[in-house]
Amino acid sequence: MASEDVLNEIRSRCNIVDIVSNYVSLKKTGKNWMGRCPFHEERTPSFTVNQEKQLFHCFGCGEGGDLFSFLMKIEKRTFPEAVKLLADSLNIRLDETKGDKYDLLYTLNERAAKFYNKLLFEKEGSHGLAYLLERGIKRETIEEFRLGYASAGFEALKTLLRKDFSEKELFLAGLLRQGSKGMFDWVQNRIIFPIADRYGKITGFGARALDEAMPKYINTKETPIYNKSRVLYGLNKASETIREKREVILVEGYIDVIMSHQYGFKNVVATCGTALTESHTSLIRGVDSVILAFDQDIAGKHATERSINILAKEGKNIYVLLFKKKDIAELLKDEGEDGFKKAYLEKREFLEFSLDIATSKDKKDGLAYLLPIIKQIEEPIKRQSFIKDASEKMNIDEGIIISSIKGIGPGFSDHLSSRERGHLSAEKQLLKLMLEDEEICLWLTKEIDQSLFSNPLSKEVFLSLKEALYSEGVFGVDRLAGKVTEPARKLISALITETTIPGDKYQMAEECIRTMKKTFLKDKRALLQKEINQRQKNGEDVREQLRCYQQLEMEVRL
Ligand SMILES: [Zn+2]
Repeated sequence: MASEDVLNEIRSRCNIVDIVSNYVSLKKTGKNWMGRCPFHEERTPSFTVNQEKQLFHCFGCGEGGDLFSFLMKIEKRTFPEAVKLLADSLNIRLDETKGDKYDLLYTLNERAAKFYNKLLFEKEGSHGLAYLLERGIKRETIEEFRLGYASAGFEALKTLLRKDFSEKELFLAGLLRQGSKGMFDWVQNRIIFPIADRYGKITGFGARALDEAMPKYINTKETPIYNKSRVLYGLNKASETIREKREVILVEGYIDVIMSHQYGFKNVVATCGTALTESHTSLIRGVDSVILAFDQDIAGKHATERSINILAKEGKNIYVLLFKKKDIAELLKDEGEDGFKKAYLEKREFLEFSLDIATSKDKKDGLAYLLPIIKQIEEPIKRQSFIKDASEKMNIDEGIIISSIKGIGPGFSDHLSSRERGHLSAEKQLLKLMLEDEEICLWLTKEIDQSLFSNPLSKEVFLSLKEALYSEGVFGVDRLAGKVTEPARKLISALITETTIPGDKYQMAEECIRTMKKTFLKDKRALLQKEINQRQKNGEDVREQLRCYQQLEMEVRL
């Protein structure tokens, strides 16, 4: 337990306004700082921080306390864990008699990172180093980001760490894999990117293949300290600048982040090999503006579209960077700081960008794409002028757009077709059954996979149930509430309060799964149909596709 001296030292060196600003966009009003409460949903700010007293309070939900209680609540930590987070970030040494329960994992990751980094500068890692230098990364940047190299052998890391740790511990940290002849290093012959949390502690690793190994990029498996939808690469380095500028630039890859920082753009972070989720946005809630600078290919464009949909709900100013290179790393390597600055100055407001996307689709799809975005525009004048623009560019009557907006109600089932809604209710029903009954929950987490859920919120709830059951061995809705995003929490409470339909629970669950599987197959079939049409148009052979189609057709009917 930390002594009163340590607590006092932390208090004297930390400013609660700075800490809270990592999570909440604060504006100074008189003596206090105000913002929208991170602990309950609100439109008008009632969350205040008092710098003089170093306390926060929310007039909306009554939450309040000092900086330790703020961190405990927002990072879901115990008191000693919150103290440790702050102490570590200030390099204050704590009496280590009672570390937090994740210490072992952090220690292992730290040791592994050191080993990988050392190897990069030895003969064995020389082609890894050459690769990084070739991409334009300087030696000092390599050191700053602690990049490393994983040996081409299968037991280098294992041999080193086995002296101090058991194989089981290394396996839990994701650093070893289980093979038929025993455990071996999780990756071979790859560049290693240590991934740190906001406070600089290494939670996991990303690894890029240096040979033909697939996939090109992989991450360590999820562990109690590493969840890839809850980490932004580079946040430990970017956090301060993001807070000062109230602006974050999101890029796609590790090297994009590293190069940006090397060239002095310090508010750049990346999602680690995954799409932006609502959990990610909770890490950057303190900003006013988000700039999307993803890869300039089709996949990057889709990622941009999806991210806009998520971010627009948060009421951020969203911009998109467009440039004539593959990605930000290449832009910086070829054109340096100036290339980045030029792209930044020419950034497009997301509404303009969305309109371009919509006009590139056919009218019906284009309108369907725009409706939820229009709904998010709060200012009436801005909304009206956007509708006018959309109407002109897409050649659709303004009246039609307006009546389409009225047709979609608020809430969970926004802009979904009726078929999707049917699917959603099966998903919801299934989650409800899981939330109500531990046995069903256990059975289903083994029986089905998250890919069956089409709605991201449902998927999140499913995964958190699974996580709670397996990593903590406890079942309880109350334990879940603190571990999911706000929208997921709302879904959970909505599901619990809904009336339970009487009947055989197992039978109902099976019915739901059947419906969900069918939708899954139907979606797959629709995709295949598109591909067949396209290939036929191009005069290509479609026999293989038709075979698959028939197979799917049969499965759908089963
Ligand atoms: Zn509140």
